Amino acid sequence: MQDCIFCKIVRGELPSTKVYEDDLVLAFKDINPQAPVHVLVIPKAHYENVLELPAHDGQLLSRLLSAIQQVARELGVAETGFRLVANTGPDSGQMVPHLHFHILGGRKMGHGMA
Ligand code: AMP
Ligand code: ZN
Repeated sequence: MQDCIFCKIVRGELPSTKVYEDDLVLAFKDINPQAPVHVLVIPKAHYENVLELPAHDGQLLSRLLSAIQQVARELGVAETGFRLVANTGPDSGQMVPHLHFHILGGRKMGHGMA
């Protein structure tokens, strides 16, 4: 998508601090971290949110999950734990309409989900 900021990051038109990349998936540090570890894991292809992510695309789903696991291990939160969040649609407060999984860790997260 032409004007999507995460598509621009994928194309290298905007800078990012990458922590994982393959041909289908990219992970980079959130620009406004809410925790000591705050990484966004995205499909390189533009899907607005999890509702648009094709459930039949086993290769992409598997790659996203592998990337999440690898990032969590490499950034040292696999043992201590982390929160995985995919805001979806207006009520979630999703600001960037390109599917992204937040990995948040490195501190105790609150009990509330809000
Ligand atoms: P959401 O509210 O789930 O759509 O989250 C969007 C996230 O993208 C926020 O945590 C932002 O800090 C983050 N973000 C926005 N622009 C950038 C950028 N250029 N590089 C890295 N993270 C970004
Ligand atoms: Zn996009």
